[in-house]
Amino acid sequence: MDKITDRYHQPVNNDRKHLDPLFDFKEVAKRTYQLGFSALSLGIFLSVYDAFIGMYVSSFLLACFCFAILMFMILKHQEAIKDLTISIFSVLCGLLICLVLLEGLQSDQYLYFFPILIAVPLVVDLKQKNSNKPAVFVGIMIFSFITCIVIGNYVKPMEQFTAQQAAKLILVNRFTALGSTIVFAALYTFFEKKYIEEILTQSERVINTKTQFLATMGHELRTPLNGIIGVVSLLKNEQSAAKQEEYIKILQSTADHMLQQVNDILDFNKIEAGKLELHPIKINLDNFLLNTSLPFKVLTANKSVEVQTEVDKQLSTTILADDMRLTQVLNNLFANALKFTTHGYVKLKATCIKKDAKTITAGFSMEDTGIGIDKADQEKIFEGFWQVYHEDTRELAGTGLGLTICNRILRLMGSKLSLESEKGKGSKFYFELTFELAATAPVYNPIMINASSDLKQLRILLVEDNKINMMVAKKVLTGFQASVDSAYDGAEALTSLAHFPHYDIVLMDLEMPVMNGYEAIFEMKEKYPLIPVIAFTASLVDQQMLSDLLASGFNDCLLKPFTPQQLLSVIKKHVGTPQRV
Ligand code: ADP
Repeated sequence: MDKITDRYHQPVNNDRKHLDPLFDFKEVAKRTYQLGFSALSLGIFLSVYDAFIGMYVSSFLLACFCFAILMFMILKHQEAIKDLTISIFSVLCGLLICLVLLEGLQSDQYLYFFPILIAVPLVVDLKQKNSNKPAVFVGIMIFSFITCIVIGNYVKPMEQFTAQQAAKLILVNRFTALGSTIVFAALYTFFEKKYIEEILTQSERVINTKTQFLATMGHELRTPLNGIIGVVSLLKNEQSAAKQEEYIKILQSTADHMLQQVNDILDFNKIEAGKLELHPIKINLDNFLLNTSLPFKVLTANKSVEVQTEVDKQLSTTILADDMRLTQVLNNLFANALKFTTHGYVKLKATCIKKDAKTITAGFSMEDTGIGIDKADQEKIFEGFWQVYHEDTRELAGTGLGLTICNRILRLMGSKLSLESEKGKGSKFYFELTFELAATAPVYNPIMINASSDLKQLRILLVEDNKINMMVAKKVLTGFQASVDSAYDGAEALTSLAHFPHYDIVLMDLEMPVMNGYEAIFEMKEKYPLIPVIAFTASLVDQQMLSDLLASGFNDCLLKPFTPQQLLSVIKKHVGTPQRV
């Protein structure tokens, strides 16, 4: 029986809420309402009390204050005012100034500035960067406090009251002002504690995720590496050419698999960090789809699974799309479908759902007659690092990241993967995409290179300091029939260009001794602006780095390690296909 296998004991938590800002703004807004209600209750109590002891003017003023607070809260609820906190604070300070005008300083009502001051950090997010709100609040407070003191000392009180009334009033004001200061201070301590606990939990979660990620990577890479080491030692002692060839094939497929895993893990990491971006170019949709399925057709030519492609004629149009990311999604779905199908067919189908003057909506589906996926597992396979362990096929190759990556890419494109599958009968993964229609067809440079003639007429300058990487890249390029000159650093590359300034393309590493790629590109572009230069790098290239590379003169960037096919296609792109928009 198949079962969902949690390979690393715990799936990576993809819940975005864990990445949300620590301070919950809704909570702050809720607290502002709570502060409003507290001020309202206290105002009603004091208004009734003032009336009770015969201070009718103060009582009326407090009633007006309560009415104002209530109005602000209603207006805020109906979204007629923007900032409830500042409105309540201004009314509170205004009330205290009016009370001092009425009663002078003798009733100690200025003591209410203390609870107001303590309440500020409860209702204003002090952790928010670049906010001048705290300064505005403190400014209002200081201004109001000084005004109260000045008025209290120099202006004659308007309402006269007896010594008995004054004693009662002082007692109530001191008691309630002190009480609310203590309550607000206790609340502030409580929320600060909660905030610190939240920070600690989050940092623990980050450490756990990192540890888990490293454990995953380690496990994923050590397993095939172990196989490679074993096969290499077998290969050393093997005399038979047939056996040697078999071992080399194993090495090749293990290395390819490892590369796929590293790319998956890097992509996943990039997506999680929100660094994946789309770079649309003009493509012809039906040509693109036929080309994408071609390698899989070749791969399954002699097998009992037929790769079928069915593309709606209406999709024969030029659109703007990130071809690389779309290929990544379709390749993943193709690879999965073929991995889990032994008989029957794997069909890529694309239909036109809607077309208008500016956009086209296409429906894509990848259908197979393979082993299918159990209902219980259908949701989980979209989570990072989850795989279904099939006991019959013993298939668990992969990282369990493929579908997660597909889904994230599609989400960036405004879509989502759906699945219909029945155990034992097959699966169908499908999604819809809307593309902008391009006004003109893709423009190709005159030097077109087709797959069979490869890079025959090209002369390439390869700049790389690592001897093994140089040897491999040179072998691959000469394998495609290009003529290759090598340079081991930027300075050597410039010397080569001075001798022969007609290279078709320069492939240059970034990190090199003597003169690195970043330094060399300036001189290269100044002297030979028409020669395309491609950067090689093993670093994680985000949009910022890519923009910097393009701005400094590089025409493109190829991530190491790369496959011969990737190297070929980047060269073809710059000596024969359109520029990215
Ligand atoms: P991986 O990169 O390991 O293939 P995926 O995220 O692409 O991971 O797939 C997760 C799991 O979903 C696979 O382990 C497999 O069990 C299941 N799965 C994906 N596609 C198919 C399919 N076409 N048929 C059957 N099972 C599939």
